[in-house]
Amino acid sequence: MKLVTFDNGRIGVVSDGRLVDVSDLAAVVPGAWPPVGMVRFIAEFPALRPALADALRTRTSVALEEVRLEAPVQWPNKVIAFPANYHAHIEEMKHGAGSGVISAYKASGQGFFLKANSSLSGPADGIVLPPLDGREIHHECELGIIVGKRGRGIAREDFRDYVFGFTCLLDMVVRGKEERVMRKSYDTFCPTGPWITTADEIEDFNNIGMRLLVNGEERQSAVTRDLIVDIPDMLAMASAVMTLEPGDIIATGTPAGVGPVSEGDVLEIVIDGVGSMKLPVTRGTIGDHPVWNADKASLAV
Ligand code: MN
Repeated sequence: MKLVTFDNGRIGVVSDGRLVDVSDLAAVVPGAWPPVGMVRFIAEFPALRPALADALRTRTSVALEEVRLEAPVQWPNKVIAFPANYHAHIEEMKHGAGSGVISAYKASGQGFFLKANSSLSGPADGIVLPPLDGREIHHECELGIIVGKRGRGIAREDFRDYVFGFTCLLDMVVRGKEERVMRKSYDTFCPTGPWITTADEIEDFNNIGMRLLVNGEERQSAVTRDLIVDIPDMLAMASAVMTLEPGDIIATGTPAGVGPVSEGDVLEIVIDGVGSMKLPVTRGTIGDHPVWNADKASLAV
């Protein structure tokens, strides 16, 4: 099943380019703040299955083009992200901007970080670059895991019970030596979507292929079998520290091929069996601050 958030917080099921509105099944109030409709929908999903099946059989659908898709989960409890989780990407980071900080990192020994929930955006939002002259902003193509159930201390062998589904995710980042959370948390720096594909549609979690194209040219590609920390261990490691909640998002790490993006670029992320989305890149007016020049200033002295 493919679940979307659309038109100001409504919840829908997508199939063959058509959408059925199922917001009412989990008492989702469109337009309500905070926009937690999908979080509630995921938490109640097992109990909703019969009503969902009934709705899909009896309700009229609309063409997907008639609605505006939003970030599938707009208000999760947290966005967890694994850095340096593919060997080839670690190699390339030894030579790029910020390399001194990152070269010794590996997700298996370094663990994970958090990205601001407010950086989440959807398939129709595009990516807005902050106007930071002289700084590189990179794309990181990643598989996003959507957590389905509350859990702490999850054992590797139980991981499937906690994976609700998958989504396409980009972990955008300003390269440099400032705090990682700040460099990765600009608004629109975590595009997700176009929907959540539920886990039952993915046969082998260890064989999910993904790629990222910039202006139609392939820049990144990977298969989940090449992850350093695999999906079961991501759930085990994260839940060793914190309680995972329904709707939590895990960015699983990016493969080699990261690179700078500029105004006017179009990024296309494709994840086999999950979905794809095209994101235009624009340059905004908000986002510069002297903090981005502090490192440069100290070097100049
Ligand atoms: Mn990343």
